[in-house]
Amino acid sequence: MEYPRILFWHRKDLRVNDNQALLKALALSKAITSIYIFDETYPYDYNSKSRSWFLSESLKELNKNWEKAGSRLLIQKGNPSHLISYVAKIINAKYIFWNKAIEPYEIKRDEKIKADLANSNIEIVEVWDHLLINPLEISTGSDTPYTVYGPFFKKFKNKLDRVNFDNKEDKDIRFEKLKDLDDELIGSKLVTKSKIIFDEFLKDINFSGIGICPCRPGEIGAEKLLESFSSSNRITSYELARDFPSENGTSYLSGSLRFGTISIRTLWEKTLHIKLINEDPKKIQSIETWQKELAWREFYQHCLFHYPELEKGPYRKKWNNFSWNNNKEWFNRWSEGQTGVPIIDASMRQLNQSGWMHNRCRMIVASFLVKDLICDWKLGEKKFMELLVDGDLAANNGGWQWSASSGMDPKPLRIFNPYTQTKKFDPLCKYIKFWIPELSGINNTEIINGDISALEKINYPSPIVSHNVQQRIFKTLYATI
Ligand SMILES: Cc1cc2nc3c(=O)[nH]c(=O)nc-3n(C[C@H](O)[C@H](O)[C@H](O)COP(=O)(O)OP(=O)(O)OC[C@H]3O[C@@H](n4cnc5c(N)ncnc54)[C@H](O)[C@@H]3O)c2cc1C
Repeated sequence: MEYPRILFWHRKDLRVNDNQALLKALALSKAITSIYIFDETYPYDYNSKSRSWFLSESLKELNKNWEKAGSRLLIQKGNPSHLISYVAKIINAKYIFWNKAIEPYEIKRDEKIKADLANSNIEIVEVWDHLLINPLEISTGSDTPYTVYGPFFKKFKNKLDRVNFDNKEDKDIRFEKLKDLDDELIGSKLVTKSKIIFDEFLKDINFSGIGICPCRPGEIGAEKLLESFSSSNRITSYELARDFPSENGTSYLSGSLRFGTISIRTLWEKTLHIKLINEDPKKIQSIETWQKELAWREFYQHCLFHYPELEKGPYRKKWNNFSWNNNKEWFNRWSEGQTGVPIIDASMRQLNQSGWMHNRCRMIVASFLVKDLICDWKLGEKKFMELLVDGDLAANNGGWQWSASSGMDPKPLRIFNPYTQTKKFDPLCKYIKFWIPELSGINNTEIINGDISALEKINYPSPIVSHNVQQRIFKTLYATI
């Protein structure tokens, strides 16, 4: 049987398991060639050492999976708007399959490719995969997109409760026995270039946090993280442990979700299965709390899809008139973990060294940058995007706007006191002392109160600002908008 040739384009779905567009492609034909493009025009990613590492390892595994199945992963570099149609024509593809994206740049890029190929004999097939619910299929009673998480979650959960995850039409579709094209047909130029591009990318990886980054690349890495989180009591004690940065209390799956090395459906299904085998209401509540975090991811993705202007600035426009201080030296001290406020410095050092930061700490350092140092949240957002292994436009922008009080959060102003936060969430200063070894000999009460008497002796700076003073200044400025 002659199969129609398909070009499958991997973007933020670096996996072969439970990949919706890939399943649809496999249902149509076994003649599939895949491609990944280092997109030089994409505004994020390639300046991030941690994400480049995660990407490179995930691509290595993906490449092996395609070869094992009898085909290949072509790797190209440049502008996908040109490259996709160019490669599709070279391999004589009848179809191009990809999973839909939600970021403004990606949507525009995809529209251009579709327009360019509109009059060709190549058909483009786009599929929703990245989210549990298509953003066009969930809206308020007045048919507008949700802008508040609480009611969004209610509707989202309601819809998901009606999905039968066990009823899979595609359960018999196998990723195997694919029909590859010979090198000559693809053109030796394209094949050789693919190898050179990937080798060059690998050569430039210089992320020093591989050993301490808790996120793990590739499909195997994601499966292991999920297994470790769900088969132990970690998921069932998530409710209690998730806010304590010194505990191994969260899943570390953010990098995997960001690069699509695991599907969001796999995670949701897992929560349903674990709920079924647990009777203790506390354990069930814990699993539901984790589901709510997955829903936060979904909420921010939907928000960016419906309000692409979020990428450029505040949701609440009055924030455009705020008089930021933007003190460069303070910003640098914040970035490097040298503010003299232990919980801030521990968190920023964790980010700098490991490429990841605990969620509680992300909220504390974001509040500190905006409401104590009075620096524009866009600066913090950019710094996070550079360093985070899971750096994702929707989640990061959502997290920063939430912390800055410029976003969709209905609470008008939220200010975190870094010392009270330490007392509550790192009472034994285990997290602080791990990331700031200079403080290991200091009394916990002194650290918690921000009153370290032996600073000069241990080479740790005194606080660059007073929380109480800065809070008052911030509130005065806020009153003007
Ligand atoms: C200022 C700020 C910036 C952030 N930037 C990012 C970012 O760039 N990328 C990112 O994935 N998350 C971001 N978050 C959300 C959150 O901190 C991380 O998703 C979480 O810490 C990842 O760890 P985990 O995988 O162990 O999470 P778990 O607690 O195990 O949660 C499971 C998954 O749910 C999702 N999730 C959890 N909390 C949130 C949340 N508040 N918002 C959106 N999704 C969430 C993530 O995909 C996460 O992997 C940010 C939060 C703040 C406050």
